[in-house]
Amino acid sequence: MDLTLNKTQKAVQKHIRRFCENVLGPWAPVLDKEHRFLPPDVVKEMGRVGIWGIQAPKKYGGAELDTVSYSIIIEEIARVCGSTALSTTVHNSVCLAPILKFGSEYLKEKYAYDLAIGKKIGGFTVTEPNAGSDAAGMQTIAVKDGNDYIVTGQKTFVTNGGNGEVFLVGAKYDPGKGTRGIGVFIIDKSMEGFEVGKIEEKLGMRGNLTSELYFDHVRVPKENILGSLKAGFILAMKTLDIGRIGIASQALGIGCAAFEAAAKYASQRKQFGRPIGKFQGISFKLAEMKTDLEAARLLIYKAASLKDKGLPYTREASMCKFFAADRAMKACREALQIFGGYGYCLELPVERYFRDVKVTEIYEGTSEIMKLIIGNHILKEFKQIN
Ligand SMILES: Cc1cc2nc3c(=O)[nH]c(=O)nc-3n(C[C@H](O)[C@H](O)[C@H](O)COP(=O)(O)OP(=O)(O)OC[C@H]3O[C@@H](n4cnc5c(N)ncnc54)[C@H](O)[C@@H]3O)c2cc1C
Repeated sequence: MDLTLNKTQKAVQKHIRRFCENVLGPWAPVLDKEHRFLPPDVVKEMGRVGIWGIQAPKKYGGAELDTVSYSIIIEEIARVCGSTALSTTVHNSVCLAPILKFGSEYLKEKYAYDLAIGKKIGGFTVTEPNAGSDAAGMQTIAVKDGNDYIVTGQKTFVTNGGNGEVFLVGAKYDPGKGTRGIGVFIIDKSMEGFEVGKIEEKLGMRGNLTSELYFDHVRVPKENILGSLKAGFILAMKTLDIGRIGIASQALGIGCAAFEAAAKYASQRKQFGRPIGKFQGISFKLAEMKTDLEAARLLIYKAASLKDKGLPYTREASMCKFFAADRAMKACREALQIFGGYGYCLELPVERYFRDVKVTEIYEGTSEIMKLIIGNHILKEFKQIN
């Protein structure tokens, strides 16, 4: 079993790491402090290196890379800027990817190129004030009117909501049919009745404009239904599988940044006449952090490889998301502890890692929901065996 990166993946990692350190790195503290999204010239430059269309085919302006490379890129971005990793992973995996996978030729022609080069930023929205983990409880409705659907409702916590232009929106077209009555509609900002609501003030990920979105009788042509109307909810759930590999990679990147900063500090900071890393209390922390993060990476690559081979990967996506978020959270907590009082101050990035990483345990399915999915798979397998 080969657990090493191939030539292309290594080259991608080297190239993107340099880009992230030089171009995105200086922006990370600015976005965090000013609660703002990246400036347009940086967004454009990211498009030039393929970050907005990592897995999109070249004919749509994408980089056409595999899912392992996708994980590597998100990890590298997250090492320098968690917020930008969030913007890019959501845009790529839960907006552009489902359009390419489930969309008609018309939808691909209409949206894929602009999304893949970053001319337009995308998002995905199912969450509502009364429908979080239980997304099927959504109340946004889509009423048929001739060849169109009239979409009305409110969405909350929309990543890229404040700066995005194209959104995959879950809405009930037949409320009596449960999950089979939910469709996914592509709604763009130019449609009348689309309104961006409050931009959330958050603990972390402040360089991503998470917002409410309002749809006031938005007229959506039936051509903008993604995939089959009846299978909308399944499509949304499948979309979250790839999304979860991205969130796991994001958690990993933030955890690695925290670990590397802590390891360096532990080898330099002296107390009681020697570097604090020489004390077992600190070196054991570093050993656990490194082992956890390496294990998280292997789980991520396993899920990504299964996806690349066309094999089922729902369970593995949930496992890697749950584990990476949990261990990255721990790594950030321990890193802050290793920095002592300095870690608690805004001058160093460790407190930002700590604030940014928390939400990886929450969005695209909380850790509790990940364990439910993994548990259900285990029970199904067990039933098959007996
Ligand atoms: C910064 C940010 C960005 C986001 N981006 C998006 C986005 O782009 N698109 C989108 O649609 N959503 C987005 N979300 C929403 C996110 O996916 C939800 O917050 C998440 O799914 C949890 O829903 P909730 O917040 O309503 O919590 P709830 O579902 O109310 O859960 C509250 C608590 O109860 C637990 N719980 C709930 N049900 C169960 C159960 N059956 N068993 C055990 N425990 C349970 C949860 O794990 C959690 O701990 C974002 C959220 C944040 C914070």
